[in-house]
Amino acid sequence: MSEVNVLKPNSDKPVAIIGAGIVGVSCAIHLQRLGKKVMLIDREGPGEGTSYGNAGVLACCSIVPVVTPGIMLKAPKMLFSQDGPLFLKWGYVPKLMKFLIPYLRASKAETVEHIAKNLTPLLADSVDEHFNVSEGSPARKWLKKSPYMFVYKSRAAYDADSFAWNLRKKHGFEWEVLEGDDIQKYEPSISRSYKCAVLLQEHGMISNPGEYVKDLAKTAISEGVEMRITGVNDIQQTERGVVLKTEDGDIIAEAAVIATGAWSAALAKGHGAKVPLETERGYHIVLEEPSVQPTMPIMDTTRKFVTTPMSNGLRLAGIVEFGGLTAPPSKGPFELLLRGVNALLPDCTYKSKQTWMGHRPATADSLPVIGRSPTSDDVYFGYGHHHVGLTAGPKTGRLLAEMVAGLQPNIDLHAYRANR
Ligand SMILES: Cc1cc2nc3c(=O)[nH]c(=O)nc-3n(C[C@H](O)[C@H](O)[C@H](O)COP(=O)(O)OP(=O)(O)OC[C@H]3O[C@@H](n4cnc5c(N)ncnc54)[C@H](O)[C@@H]3O)c2cc1C
Repeated sequence: MSEVNVLKPNSDKPVAIIGAGIVGVSCAIHLQRLGKKVMLIDREGPGEGTSYGNAGVLACCSIVPVVTPGIMLKAPKMLFSQDGPLFLKWGYVPKLMKFLIPYLRASKAETVEHIAKNLTPLLADSVDEHFNVSEGSPARKWLKKSPYMFVYKSRAAYDADSFAWNLRKKHGFEWEVLEGDDIQKYEPSISRSYKCAVLLQEHGMISNPGEYVKDLAKTAISEGVEMRITGVNDIQQTERGVVLKTEDGDIIAEAAVIATGAWSAALAKGHGAKVPLETERGYHIVLEEPSVQPTMPIMDTTRKFVTTPMSNGLRLAGIVEFGGLTAPPSKGPFELLLRGVNALLPDCTYKSKQTWMGHRPATADSLPVIGRSPTSDDVYFGYGHHHVGLTAGPKTGRLLAEMVAGLQPNIDLHAYRANR
C-alpha cells in the first residue's frame, strides 16, 4: 500500500463541507463512513439549491457538453427562433464575456472529445454510486433504475446528431433506434409527429430530487454529521486549521470542502481556482395530477427539455439562460416548456402547475472542478457539474471524501484540477 493510501489520523476538529446539495451531502455521507467528524453547512438547508429542481435523470450517457462543433452557426437560431432553448438577459452580456469566450472556444472537436473522455468515469457507473450512497437511507425510495429516451422529429434529425452519438458509442454506450409506431409501443403518449427515438437502457431517475437530498442529509445527521444553517463568506487557511468566516461567527475546521454549486467562485477564488464559472439558469414546471404520465424520462431534442415522471406530477425541465445569479426568472422559458409539452404529449391535461428557476454550475470547459486547492493544503473543491451534477454528485462526493481522508481515489483526477 502506498504512503498516501493510509487514512489520516482523526482530528478533534470537523471537516467542514460547505453546500448541502447532492455533492456536499454525498461527500458528508462518505466522510462519515470513513470515520471522520463532519460538519455540513448550508445557508438554506439541504436540497434547496439546484439539486432541488433538476430533471431527476441519472444521465449516464450525458458525456457530450452543450457546446459542440458548429455551435457558433446554431446559436443565433437557438436564441432568436420562437422555440429556441437558449435565452439571454442582454444587460448581463458584458459580465458574461469572461466566461463566454473560453466556453465557445471549448466547442472544438478535440476539446469536446477530451470533455467526453473525462465525464465518462464520473457518469457511466453513477446509478451504482447512487445505490451506494443511499444504502440504509429512506432516500432510497426516490431512486429507480430506468431507461432514458431521446425523441427526434425525423431520422434525419437523429442522423444530424451523429457527432454526439458517435462519441457515446466510442465510450461504450449502447442504444436502440426506434422509428414510427415502435416509439408508441414504449410510450403511447408521445405525439406521432416524433418519427425517431433513441432508447438507452441502464440509466436511472430520482422521482423527487429535493426530498432525495433531504433524506440523504437526514440519514447523515442521524449518523453523527453536524448540520449548521448559515452562510459562509470566506475561507482562510491558517496555522490553527481552516477558518470559516460565517454569518454566525468563525468555525475552525480540519479541512473545508467547497461544494456550493453555482455560488462557488467567490469562495474558491482565494484558493487558486482559475476556471471561469457561470450560472446556466434552468427552469422547470411540475404539472400536477397530469392525465398522462410517461414511464421514463424523455428528452425532446428539438426544444432541449426533459419530461420526467415525478412523485408529485410530471416535471418539464431544461432551458439554458445566461443572466447571472440574482435576476428574477423570465417568462419566456416557462412558455417554451408549456409549448414543448403540448407538442410532445398532446393529450396531457393537468390540474395545476408549479414553477421553478435554478442555477446550473457551469465551468467554461464543461468539466467539474474536483480536488485539492493548489494553494491551500486543507481546502478542497467539488463544484461545476453543469447539466449532470445530480448524476455525478455521489461519485464526486466519494472521491472528495477519499482525498480528504488521505486515501488515493481510483481514478485519475488530473482533468478536474482547479488551476487547469
Ligand atoms: C433545469 C435543470 C435540470 C437539470 N437536470 C439534471 C438532470 O436531469 N440530471 C443531472 O444529473 N443534473 C441535472 N441538472 C444539474 C444539477 O441539478 C446540478 O448540476 C446539481 O444539482 C449541482 O449540485 P451541487 O450540489 O453542486 O449544487 P447545489 O444543489 O446548488 O447546492 C449548493 C448549495 O450551496 C449552498 N450555498 C451556496 N453558497 C453558500 C454559502 N456561501 N454558504 C453556505 N451555503 C451556500 C446553497 O444554498 C446550495 O444548497 C439540472 C439543472 C437544472 C437547472
